[in-house]
Amino acid sequence: MTRHIGFVGLGNMGGPMAANLVKAGYRVSGFDLAPQALRQAEAAGVQAAGSGAEAAREADLVITMLPAGRHVLAAYAELLPAARSGTYFVDCSTIDVADARAAHDLATAAGHRAVDAPVSGGVAGASAASLTFMTGAAQPDFDAVRPVLEAMGRKVVHCGPSGAGQAAKICNNMILGISMIAVGEAFVLGESLGLSHQALFDVASTASGQCWALTSNCPVPGPVPASPANRGYAAGFAAALMAKDLGLAAGAAEAAGLPTELGRRAAQLYASFAAGEGAGLDFSAIITTLKAEKEDAE
Ligand code: NAD
Repeated sequence: MTRHIGFVGLGNMGGPMAANLVKAGYRVSGFDLAPQALRQAEAAGVQAAGSGAEAAREADLVITMLPAGRHVLAAYAELLPAARSGTYFVDCSTIDVADARAAHDLATAAGHRAVDAPVSGGVAGASAASLTFMTGAAQPDFDAVRPVLEAMGRKVVHCGPSGAGQAAKICNNMILGISMIAVGEAFVLGESLGLSHQALFDVASTASGQCWALTSNCPVPGPVPASPANRGYAAGFAAALMAKDLGLAAGAAEAAGLPTELGRRAAQLYASFAAGEGAGLDFSAIITTLKAEKEDAE
């Protein structure tokens, strides 16, 4: 049974996730390269370690929550030799499927157990312990880590073997990225046809256009008070993260020889938006570029 957890990567997501493990009664040893992130986690009851290896040394289970696959593979080079044989390694970062499988193979070759468990729900879900976990693991490993994931989330889905969690995550976010652009285009077209935002929302939110991008993260101010559009598009789910996830989906499609035309187009639009005026904004702010295109056409 897991009692002591090592947590590496205590940023926007990892910090509150580690805090929820402390609240659930686990002993958590944490490490982050950023001193500020480490101090914040310490204030929430995490024991600050001097390195990733120190955080992993006595743990029964090690969680990584890092920006990208290269960070996870680099961290594993330090963590795997430091941990006791048979430690569970759970990577919650969003990384590509090939890196997730490589991380799994490195961990098992070093005598450990490995699970990929990326999340959906954003910083708000990490703070409220209401994340959805998408896990890729052998059944006994899934059963073993499930109680720990349940301390940080509301829903834990076993998607299949190693890599299946990451596969589910990038497929889900490809739907989300495409649907946000579709909703944005519909509002811009509605405006040019003289339709109010509220009228389009009232119809589409209860008709066949209904989707999360519309009803929870509506890209125009007004209809959904909690959506980032009402606070200057402060993220939320940053456009840069959406660009990253769509890039992972496009890369996976390329490797599989699939066209995924809308997914690739969405990846291009988000990549240029995140590198320009969308830097630091919520991904729903992409509607502002769709409007700009309309204004250019007028
Ligand atoms: P973040 O940049 O806030 O946190 C990452 C942390 O990792 C940073 O504090 C950084 O200092 C630390 N770090 C990097 N390399 C390290 C190493 N070798 N050892 C120790 N610490 C190291 O990012 P985040 O928003 O917390 O996202 C983390 C992951 O979760 C990403 O893969 C992201 O795609 C995914 N994700 C984020 C969200 C979101 O809304 N922020 C939602 C779902 C999934």
